[in-house]
Amino acid sequence: MSTYDVTIIGSGPGGYVAAIRCAQLGMKTAIIEKYDTLGGTCLNVGCIPSKALLDSSEHYHNAVHNFAEHGIETKGVKPNIEQMVKRKGEVVSQTSAGVKFLMDKNKVEVYQGRGSFVDKNTVKVSHTDGKETLLSSKYVIIATGSKPNFFPGMEPDKKRIITSTEALNMKEIPKKMLVIGGGVIGLELGSVFARLGSEIEVIEFAPTIIPTMDGALGKELSKVLKKEGFKFNFEHRVQKVVNKGKSVVLTALNKKGEEVTFEADYCLVAVGRKPYTEGLNLEAAGLSVNQRGQIDVNDHLQTSVANIYAVGDVVRGAMLAHKAEEEGVYVAELLAGQKPHLNYNLIPGVVYTWPEVAAVGKTEEELKAAGVNYKVGSFPVKALGRARASMDTAGLIKILADAATDEVLGVHMIAPRAADLIMEAVVAMEYRASAEDIARICHPHPTYSEAVKEAAMDATDKRAMHV
Ligand code: FAD
Ligand code: NAD
Repeated sequence: MSTYDVTIIGSGPGGYVAAIRCAQLGMKTAIIEKYDTLGGTCLNVGCIPSKALLDSSEHYHNAVHNFAEHGIETKGVKPNIEQMVKRKGEVVSQTSAGVKFLMDKNKVEVYQGRGSFVDKNTVKVSHTDGKETLLSSKYVIIATGSKPNFFPGMEPDKKRIITSTEALNMKEIPKKMLVIGGGVIGLELGSVFARLGSEIEVIEFAPTIIPTMDGALGKELSKVLKKEGFKFNFEHRVQKVVNKGKSVVLTALNKKGEEVTFEADYCLVAVGRKPYTEGLNLEAAGLSVNQRGQIDVNDHLQTSVANIYAVGDVVRGAMLAHKAEEEGVYVAELLAGQKPHLNYNLIPGVVYTWPEVAAVGKTEEELKAAGVNYKVGSFPVKALGRARASMDTAGLIKILADAATDEVLGVHMIAPRAADLIMEAVVAMEYRASAEDIARICHPHPTYSEAVKEAAMDATDKRAMHV
């Protein structure tokens, strides 16, 4: 039996980043992955492939809709889904190979196979050839991630009723795609196909898209996406989805309680993800899952069994790659005797539509519910010279600050490159900046970041200059 200081089950961003940090801190580390490639959901069927297809479809969309205005004439531009999916596959392979390189560089031992507990200090690796390896470990980190969720009546058959995984590997561009769920996956993958010419019809349970984000963002994003051809059906309760061979038929109850049907060639089910713990044999280690299928952890990401920790999608909190990574680093540093810190309030969230949506801190709805006295500053992207130059004029930046102290409490944006712009807000908030602090920082001109400064000026004392 091989012996390790730390054994990590799962090689997604939670697991592989924990492995690197454990190794950097001098721990003898093993990582177990049941798939042939490393990187988990994020690298193989999540963040990276979805962004690859978003980028390709955006190029196509610009060529068809925006190039002529820029003075670039094109003829006969057409999408080649086979090539787009092939390129996406290459991006995934290179990125996953990069993780393998990092494991080797850091002398992390990689075991390919399914990991399961024998007891709290022993993990069995069941390899695909039927062989088994036992690993003895002082500590174990569970980083087994999540899988697509669905509700009764909408079980994916992976042919016409599909999850994000199949949507990333389409062989044809759907004429029409139904999307159950107007959350992150529905809108990102919906955008890919809308840009390529599919009619996208969203069936959403809530009264708005991206319902957990600040209300201003959902409102603005629906306007943008409607222009891209999205149709939205809010407050609809999906009853069933049936594969009719060449089409799917979805039945739902609308907000009046009437039965309505929708027909399309595909239906993407995007109603969230569920923690994945199948086959871990948690009981052998003295562990179980909670009602939501998550592994319960304390503030230090330690489970009820002292030497076992859990990170990422399999525990409470946002299901985001960077949240999983931070948790991986946290546990590694804790095991090395350090006193790490993780500020869950400052984990930014991004939706990679175009323009992008990004947010950090509290939403206006949360501040209202908590009875916090706040002030709001906002600035429209269309007022920026940079935005007019690039023809990306949709969007806004909204800053929420404490009414008495001016401390920034939340920043919400829909803007070109918002995924990158949001970092200014994260850094500012980490240092507990006031809106005036941001307003007084010199921002380069012309940039989209000037909208952050202007929104901060508006929040400080309504002194935005360019509106
Ligand atoms: P995972 O990445 O799910 O990795 C878990 C790994 O554990 C898997 O490889 C699995 O095979 C392995 N495993 C499970 N059980 C065992 C076992 N018993 N033995 C061995 N191995 C096991 N997040 C973002 O922050 N930004 C994005 O842009 C983004 N885009 C996304 C797009 C899509 C389409 C999807 C589906 C998700 C996206 N996410 C995004 C979410 C992100 O992928 C997850 O939050 C992240 O991957 C979670 O990391 P993790 O390490 O907890 O788990
Ligand atoms: P989500 O939670 O973002 O959205 C799910 C949507 O489905 C919500 O709007 C919800 O109201 C709706 N819904 C739930 N049940 C429904 C029902 N029965 N009928 C109709 N609508 C219903 O989940 P997702 O889009 O599936 O994404 C899963 C996870 O993956 C998220 O937690 C997200 O953080 C992560 N992810 C992140 C990114 C990113 O960071 N850019 C991209 C993709 C996925």
